[in-house]
Amino acid sequence: MDSESKNMAISRRLFLKGAALTPLTLALGGAAISAVYLRPAQARDFYLRPPGAIEEKRFLAACVKCGRCAQACPYQSIKMAGGEAVVGIGTPYIVPREMPCYLCPDIPCTKVCPSGALDKKLNDVEKIRMGTAIIVDRSACLSIRGLRCEVCYRQCPLIDKAITLETRHNVRTDTHTIMEPVIHRDKCVGCGICEKVCVRETPVIVVQKTPTLQKDHYEF
Ligand code: SF4
Ligand code: SF4
Repeated sequence: MDSESKNMAISRRLFLKGAALTPLTLALGGAAISAVYLRPAQARDFYLRPPGAIEEKRFLAACVKCGRCAQACPYQSIKMAGGEAVVGIGTPYIVPREMPCYLCPDIPCTKVCPSGALDKKLNDVEKIRMGTAIIVDRSACLSIRGLRCEVCYRQCPLIDKAITLETRHNVRTDTHTIMEPVIHRDKCVGCGICEKVCVRETPVIVVQKTPTLQKDHYEF
């Protein structure tokens, strides 16, 4: 198998793994919800554009609304805006909780864009910057509460780069270890896979444009 096919296989496997895991993890999360108080997560402060999208104002001016990027996406991650005027009618966007970007190694969505709204020169998935993931509700994150979850970490295509696990003593139980997912902004590409797989009913990890600073630890 050549390296491109191998990469594609990895991308597909991630997609299938995510699809297979979601019902199980949702069930686990559902069970845990009764034990853990869930705060509403912050609303998203922007819409994710496809990989390679240029700065938003220029993107809106450049995009000819042809939908080729959406047609090229093998996962149907890219939607074309209908009446959602705030997105820009006819422009492409991604809703990670429905279908994140699975980081195709050849980034086909950018290659077919005729307008320059998506940068064709983008050839490295690790250089994609759609946004940055952030844990918006630390009190609802099962891992931070001291339970074994870590689903976002394990499903991250840039595991141990974009998300790492940091361990610390659980002062509440005084016997266990907390395994906290920590997002590294310089590596996170904003694909939204973590947001898709978060086991909570309202995802506690979401992709945002300008993440607010997180506290170092949460007292509970
Ligand atoms: S990189 Fe692949 S999965 Fe992601 S939006 Fe482009 S075509 Fe879709
Ligand atoms: S392919 Fe380019 S011009 Fe066409 S809808 Fe997608 S971003 Fe806009």
